[in-house]
Amino acid sequence: MNEEKIVFSRPFRADSEARNLEAVLASGHAHGDGPFTASATARLEQITGSERVLLTTSCTHALEMTSMLLDLAPGDEVILPSYTFPSAATAVSAYGATSVFVDVVKDTGVIDAELIESAITSRTKAISVMHYGGVAPDMHRVLEIAHAHGLPVIEDNAHGLGGEWDGQKLGTFGAFATQSFHSTKNVHSGEGGALLINDDRFVERAEIIREKGTNRSRFLRGQVDKYSWVDKGSSYLPSEFNAAVLDAQLEQFDHIQRLRGGVWERYSRELAEWAARSAVLPMTIPAKATQIAHLFYLLMPSFEMQQALLEHLRDRGVIGTFHYIPLDSSVAGRRFGRTPQECRNSLDFSRRIVRLPLWAGMSDSQVDRVIDAVRAFTVTGTA
Ligand SMILES: *Cc1c(COP(=O)(O)O)cnc(C)c1O
Repeated sequence: MNEEKIVFSRPFRADSEARNLEAVLASGHAHGDGPFTASATARLEQITGSERVLLTTSCTHALEMTSMLLDLAPGDEVILPSYTFPSAATAVSAYGATSVFVDVVKDTGVIDAELIESAITSRTKAISVMHYGGVAPDMHRVLEIAHAHGLPVIEDNAHGLGGEWDGQKLGTFGAFATQSFHSTKNVHSGEGGALLINDDRFVERAEIIREKGTNRSRFLRGQVDKYSWVDKGSSYLPSEFNAAVLDAQLEQFDHIQRLRGGVWERYSRELAEWAARSAVLPMTIPAKATQIAHLFYLLMPSFEMQQALLEHLRDRGVIGTFHYIPLDSSVAGRRFGRTPQECRNSLDFSRRIVRLPLWAGMSDSQVDRVIDAVRAFTVTGTA
């Protein structure tokens, strides 16, 4: 086959990246919290509607910051969806605390809010949710349970920048939310992330934790006359190089979303008939959610058909993927976590999902090829 391979994802190239990087080199200010960090932060506050955004070196690090802010310690528990990226759990285990895995909703893969309450114990310190593909769980119910038990909510919004649930911006429901700017995400800086803080009580301490446990942020604002070690901390601020690329990307956020959205809409529209005929469930956006085009997936009728479709696509030069292995069934999940109730939906989702290539700038003919390849697949063996 000499046709060009269609990769799964490709980072967006923003117009002013090179110019911004040159500006950092020329300025002599390459360490964190320079003008590009300030600009990217302001853009993120605008996009997310969050009151306070702190750029970080990754989403994983932003999640670790929440663990430090909550003073997690051995014996403490954090409730997490079974179906999510490992970072939400490594941030908990890094402090010796226990992840408590809860099953997800059947066709969306997000935590089942109705199962959260029964997983709460006297040791629970937080409820962590993830907006899979930019689709949130029932956040009214999550917040209701959290308030009833006095627990903070953490939203892992790595997929959902700019999305909404029931008319409210993702990332503004919880005390904390995290973003990722890894190069596979809609907006990227190679590696990067952000912590969104929606509860004022945590802002000052978060600035300290991000700056090696020092009050350097207050010092730079002239609020104290020298800076020193005042609390726990690490080095979580990205360099101006990362911020310069991020700022260029955020400047074109609407453009990126339009390009990705166009691909998503074509998959959704042009695969509908094939899917209906084949007992395949294509990704749909629930009424209260918005379409942010981070990913598009097909839920196949069985594990065999998931494997067969991935192979069929590969044979046609189209790279699809599946992920996540449910955390409760993973080696580390069993070692560092607890699973009060079997997570059947999570396992089922993981064994049926096929994600299709999706990036900003995919050409019409590339999208055609993916659609044609999928439509050429015949589902067999369904009951
Ligand atoms: C990508 C991703 C992360 C990790 O992001 P990094 O910035 O690479 O640390 C965490 N959670 C989810 C849901 C992700 O998709």
